[in-house]
Amino acid sequence: MIQRNPCIANIKAGYLFPEIAKRRREYAAAHPDAKIISLGIGNTTEPILPHINTGLTEGARRLGTVEGYSGYQDEGILVLREKISTVFYKTQFAANEIFISDGAKCDIGRLQLLFGAGVKIAVQDPSYPVYVDGSVLTGAAGGWTGNGYAGISYLPCTAENNYFPNLDLIPQNGLVYFCSPNNPTGAVANKDQLATLVEAARAKGSVIIFDAAYSEFIRDPALPKSIYDIEGAKQCAIEVNSFSKPAGFTGVRLGWSVVPMELKYESGQSINADWSRIVSTIFNGASNIAQAGGLAALDDDGLKEIRSLTDFYLGNAKLIRSALEKLGISCIGGDNSPYIWAHFPGRDSWEVFSQILEKCQVVSTPGAGFGPAGESFIRFSAFGHRNDVEEACVRLSRLK
Ligand code: PLP
Repeated sequence: MIQRNPCIANIKAGYLFPEIAKRRREYAAAHPDAKIISLGIGNTTEPILPHINTGLTEGARRLGTVEGYSGYQDEGILVLREKISTVFYKTQFAANEIFISDGAKCDIGRLQLLFGAGVKIAVQDPSYPVYVDGSVLTGAAGGWTGNGYAGISYLPCTAENNYFPNLDLIPQNGLVYFCSPNNPTGAVANKDQLATLVEAARAKGSVIIFDAAYSEFIRDPALPKSIYDIEGAKQCAIEVNSFSKPAGFTGVRLGWSVVPMELKYESGQSINADWSRIVSTIFNGASNIAQAGGLAALDDDGLKEIRSLTDFYLGNAKLIRSALEKLGISCIGGDNSPYIWAHFPGRDSWEVFSQILEKCQVVSTPGAGFGPAGESFIRFSAFGHRNDVEEACVRLSRLK
């Protein structure tokens, strides 16, 4: 009989969010009258705004015409790649350095093909689970040790270090995942911090995969929205980004990755050329309809809609954070990101999760699910309808 890929066996239990969904289902089955509100998963809830939605429907309509029809566009529609360079990177990248994807998560998984199973991995701890689980699946990380996966350097981000890790822990010639604004902590690295990250990666011959999926939530103009705001980043960083949260495209599926020409392996070979080969070999490009929607999202009216949608979710974040702080719970995040990271010192985060579900009928996310340093924290997500968020905030007062 065919053998199971041993890397799959290395993955611990279920993925975090299916486990939360299971616990929610069990609670709902035992309490059929409970109106459960989710502040758990980072899934968007609000409709796509009209101008961007017209971009999608127009994109579909054009495919039904001789003049407007298009087929495979492996690395993305040229005008969209150029527009991304203009809107997000002050035109500093050529179109062939920007690769359109079906979302940041998919690219995070595929990017590991560039470096193979032997690469050393570092992640912020806590971190978005895909960096770690993807590394385990490709064999770059080993089995669960009881406190993390073998072969992964966890870089703790705690209140003590202001949620910015000790960069001495970055491995030599490795791959460093870095997410800012951060999921789950909501912390945003400032320019000086990112400059030290770039310096450390270059000194160690490592590559950063910079996840900027929440960059459009940054409101403080002093905070960098891209790793390429930092001198030297083109020599050591790939950036992934997404239309999911700012444009409501979680179900539409559209993102991009920037792989600069300057980025090289130790051998001097081009990482960009290999990425182009991988994309055309196992991907074949994002939906042309989604890309038409993406183009609409990046013109003047679309950017206004992105601003208004992200403002809406940030409004939710403010309500949640202030409801928690009124209870004396110490929090970070929610001001330049849609996540609030709440501290319950000395407590087990799954136990706090259960208490919030039972007392408030509110679903949250236990911090331990994001890595060892997430223990005793809870992540609250600002993605929700306003009336649900308001109701959840009232119910949270039961935690007093
Ligand atoms: N990166 C981070 C940090 C995320 O939190 C998420 C989704 O929650 C993603 C990437 C996935 O984005 P996409 O929908 O583009 O795959």
